Amino acid sequence: MDRFDYREGRLYCEDLAAADLARRFGTPLYLYSAGTLRRHYRKLASAFSAVEPLICYSVKVCSNIHILRLLKDEGSGFDIVSGGELHRVLEAGGDPAQCCYAGVAKTDDEIRFALDAGILLWNVESEAELENLARLARETGRPARAALRVNPDVDPKTHRYITTGKRETKFGVDLERAERVFGDFAASSGSKHVALTGVQAHIGSQITTVEPYVQALEKIVALIDRLRAAGHEITTLDFGGGFGADYESGEALEARAFAAAIVPILEGRRLKIIMEPGRFIAGNAGILITQVQYVKAGGDRTFLLCDSGMHHLIRPALYGSYHHIWPLEPGEDFVPEQRTRDEVFPGTEAVDVVGPICESADFFAKDRHLPPTARGDYLAVFCAGAYGMSMASEYNSFPRPAEVLVDGSQARLIRRRGTYDDLVAPERDVGD
Ligand SMILES: *Cc1c(COP(=O)(O)O)cnc(C)c1O
Repeated sequence: MDRFDYREGRLYCEDLAAADLARRFGTPLYLYSAGTLRRHYRKLASAFSAVEPLICYSVKVCSNIHILRLLKDEGSGFDIVSGGELHRVLEAGGDPAQCCYAGVAKTDDEIRFALDAGILLWNVESEAELENLARLARETGRPARAALRVNPDVDPKTHRYITTGKRETKFGVDLERAERVFGDFAASSGSKHVALTGVQAHIGSQITTVEPYVQALEKIVALIDRLRAAGHEITTLDFGGGFGADYESGEALEARAFAAAIVPILEGRRLKIIMEPGRFIAGNAGILITQVQYVKAGGDRTFLLCDSGMHHLIRPALYGSYHHIWPLEPGEDFVPEQRTRDEVFPGTEAVDVVGPICESADFFAKDRHLPPTARGDYLAVFCAGAYGMSMASEYNSFPRPAEVLVDGSQARLIRRRGTYDDLVAPERDVGD
């Protein structure tokens, strides 16, 4: 379970009432549970311990440096996809020698920055990138170690925008072409500067079954066998992230169920195993708190008009995703036994929960049964820890929300609320 639960009609995050924090820090507010983040990390580490993986938390999922620091203290490395994310890792005191770097369009500046920092592994997505990496490694005199990102052509049956391992996506190199890439690169001068000794795949996100992993990994270990037979030294297999979060119940999926299917494929192969979980760790570890500004009876429905929306949590608008929503202080009569999507709680009414943005896609939920709600009430949008704040924008010139991390009975501001000055600062002092 995550550490958000109702006691005496009020939502708690660990030992603190969420509404007290909303009053103290204001809204909109991202609230994270340190205990939940640690618990999810440890679940993965222990489930996969037989293959001693390096766990590289995917920074893009929830990028706050205080959260990166918390995970670093658990022993985590980091999966980065930009120079900016490397900067965050360094700022958080993370070890670049435990970082892997994916991304289809790395620029020269980003590559130089990460070569300088001395990252562990380059997850290379194309022949052209490999060539460019080798050139820059030679110029800077900094040798690099790389894995080729392959596209195992499996369909994880998740949303098409978060499917990355099918043939028609822009990510990685097809399996057939992969062998040729290894062969051509070994014969080129670039191999003096880059050791291409790994294979990486990241097949998608919000994957809730083991089959796509089993299919992908069987293809990948067969590829590694063929590469080794052709004389290539392969030391590393990075199987990416993608383990889902349960957006209905707030329960984490069973890391052990994934491990039971995956570990037997990887064991005893003399491979350093890297995994890049993101959503599994952060998804259920955060909520977004918003305050109802107005209740408006529309034509045939009631709108709860909130102070947060798609600019702070874009998942419903972008992916049509479900987030459980419930008041922070619904009172004792409205505390469900468990969160379920379909149960209609007695005494609730159907409403649309929407934000202030000038877009019709700006909603958190439509036709959702909530307890009677009034102006000033606080709502929790659950499971907002992953791809929430990290995808937030200042669209319509609303400053970004604050972020608070709760650890037991301690609450700590880990990002101050954006200000009007923050909105215009990069536009000032730019000369004429
Ligand atoms: C986004 C991403 C991840 C994390 O995905 P989750 O589904 O959040 O686990 C891991 N690796 C790469 C390369 C990614 O782009």
